[in-house]
Amino acid sequence: MSDMKLEQDQKQTPSENAPKMRRDLSPSEAVHEKDWSDHKGILIVVEQRGGIAKKVSWQLLGEGRRLADKLQTHLSALVIGSNVSGLAKEAIYRGADNVYLCDSVELENYRTRPYSKVCLAVIREYKPEIVLLGATYTGRDLAGAIATHLPTGLTADCTQLDVDENRLLLASRPAFSEKMLATILCKQYKPQMATARSGVFLALPLDPTRQGDIITIPSQMTEGEIVTQVLDFLEQTDHVSLEDQEIIVAGGRGLGGPEGFVMLQEFADALGGVVGASRAAVDAGWIGHDHQVGQTGSTVRSKLYFAIGISGAVQHVVGMQNADMIVAVNRDPQAPIFKVAHLGIVGDLFTLVPALTEAIRAQKRNSGSVPVAL
Ligand SMILES: Cc1cc2nc3c(=O)[nH]c(=O)nc-3n(C[C@H](O)[C@H](O)[C@H](O)COP(=O)(O)OP(=O)(O)OC[C@H]3O[C@@H](n4cnc5c(N)ncnc54)[C@H](O)[C@@H]3O)c2cc1C
Repeated sequence: MSDMKLEQDQKQTPSENAPKMRRDLSPSEAVHEKDWSDHKGILIVVEQRGGIAKKVSWQLLGEGRRLADKLQTHLSALVIGSNVSGLAKEAIYRGADNVYLCDSVELENYRTRPYSKVCLAVIREYKPEIVLLGATYTGRDLAGAIATHLPTGLTADCTQLDVDENRLLLASRPAFSEKMLATILCKQYKPQMATARSGVFLALPLDPTRQGDIITIPSQMTEGEIVTQVLDFLEQTDHVSLEDQEIIVAGGRGLGGPEGFVMLQEFADALGGVVGASRAAVDAGWIGHDHQVGQTGSTVRSKLYFAIGISGAVQHVVGMQNADMIVAVNRDPQAPIFKVAHLGIVGDLFTLVPALTEAIRAQKRNSGSVPVAL
């Protein structure tokens, strides 16, 4: 994947408060036109449902800590919801220097307007130079609403973040049909905003000795002012969330058809894991899209990842290369997957997978545990 650097275009509809940029100015000149030095610090918007934070929020706090230390600035978290004061403390334990907490009953469920109004109030008052959110359905919706109202640029779905000597956020994401990694800069406006994928960054271990201020933020709308209502949540019972799994057994085109995935499911059950897939298998209709790993699927950080009958195309590898232990099974010794695998088995998967399943079952019968140390 090659690198390129893009600069976000001038916003099409800047508000009255936005800096005026002449068309003939290059972005590097324009950045000096307005003094942004009152914008300091990094803000992570923590996403939660039912009082449980999404993993990506803690991962962003980990990455935010690294960036804040590099910029020698502070790291803040924004927690919005109802009965979520525990999450505010956890945000401190996970790396934040301080937390803005907006805890109110009408914020129990995510709704764009009341949540974005809280974010806008915090950003306008405390002026962070960088704002980061998870690239979840909620995070994408919220980030777009905030960026539009500020206004500022927003780089969506990042897989790498960094900062340069001019305090610019280097937000990198796959581009051009996922064939290139584009690094996108927002030079004209503050805060610089990005959403980032789950499973890419590392959360810091919980440290209950960390101290930090929790600043209470009032809710910005009453229930009567909010036009949308959440009537019910219908859980998708057959949905697989690969991002939270410790053991993933992924299969590709080499499985030959949907019946190959029945065999793989037995292997995953024996190991106590879940089944993942390459896009080739998903596109063939052998398994659902929520099992897909890779650039257009999930990014995983499992402790153990089996790649079975998967060649190792770059679009697959970017989604699983951060697994702690990668075991590849492929009959082609030249398959690129062996370059990222910690352990490679060259052979026919239709012989190897049933044998491995049986060996694990036998081990469980004898010792009562899976022969995998996690
Ligand atoms: C924009 C874009 C986005 C994409 N996003 C994704 C993505 O998110 N995830 C993804 O996975 N792909 C993605 N792809 C597709 C990717 O480029 C590959 O085409 C795909 O990953 C290949 O899947 P595969 O490895 O299962 O199939 P193949 O490349 O066909 O590999 C099959 C492998 O199985 C092995 N095999 C066959 N039979 C056996 C056997 N009996 N025993 C052992 N080994 C056997 C073969 O040696 C081969 O290595 C994307 C592509 C594009 C252009």
